[in-house]
Amino acid sequence: ARPRRIALHVHPYGEGRRLLLSRDVTAVEQAEAMRRDFVANVSHEIRTPLTVLAGFVETLQTLELAAPEQERYLGLMAQQAQRMQMLVADLLVLSRLEGSPPPGAGEWMAMQGLMAQCEQEARALAAVQAKTLRLVFDAGDGMAVAGAPGELQSALSNLVSNAVRYTPSGGTVEVRASPTPQGGVALSVRDTGPGIAPEHLPRLTERFYRVDRSRSRESGGTGLGLAIVKHIVQRHGGELRIESAPGRGSTFTMVLPPGRVRVQQPDVTRS
Ligand code: ADP
Repeated sequence: ARPRRIALHVHPYGEGRRLLLSRDVTAVEQAEAMRRDFVANVSHEIRTPLTVLAGFVETLQTLELAAPEQERYLGLMAQQAQRMQMLVADLLVLSRLEGSPPPGAGEWMAMQGLMAQCEQEARALAAVQAKTLRLVFDAGDGMAVAGAPGELQSALSNLVSNAVRYTPSGGTVEVRASPTPQGGVALSVRDTGPGIAPEHLPRLTERFYRVDRSRSRESGGTGLGLAIVKHIVQRHGGELRIESAPGRGSTFTMVLPPGRVRVQQPDVTRS
């Protein structure tokens, strides 16, 4: 364990007396260090595409390129701009999540709808990445989840998008909703991708933590996806479970507690 940091303050207290105050500032200092790291990371993440972009602008200004070459440079510039847009969008999502109170029961949302939206996105993303994947979606029987619909949708979409991005062509992505023994619901996203070595697992949900930086960038990652998912799941009183091993694919599961799920029993009185 790290040594604790204690701050001592001496206050004058009445005539000739002193009051000694001690305060444990370990947590405060840790939070401050994390904030500094975060700002440094964000600066770095923005500077990289910006440098590339500025380089291309300069090239276009100084070289007289033929039209097809110009086109190519403009395409590469658009990619860098898009990368920054995605990063800023994810940063805004995170800051909104941190600045707002946890959602109450909110609205009930049909699992079927949640899944249908994710399926559409997954198919579109696989097509853009020119991948052939077997995509399986199982919304379970008549389940509904409670909370902030936009957040739950975004959390599941993030996991599905990761599975599609990291799984090579020919693989499978399976998304399932199933009741847990505790009366909650488990939303799991399983893929047959490369899997993740155990030493990375504990840090995977940290902001900007990536196992393979270039693979993440190439596939359009910001490094913030899992941090966002974890935040959303915890705000809903649940937890994010990760099971993965190199060469054996990964399963990311959002487990929501009983109050967040309702199962519409099949109507047995009707015959
Ligand atoms: P990114 O935008 O880089 O994908 P995430 O926060 O979503 O950021 O994920 C963090 C890292 O976890 C990724 O960079 C990748 O190394 C790893 N990862 C996430 N999902 C998967 C997956 N389904 N299969 C393999 N690795 C994954």
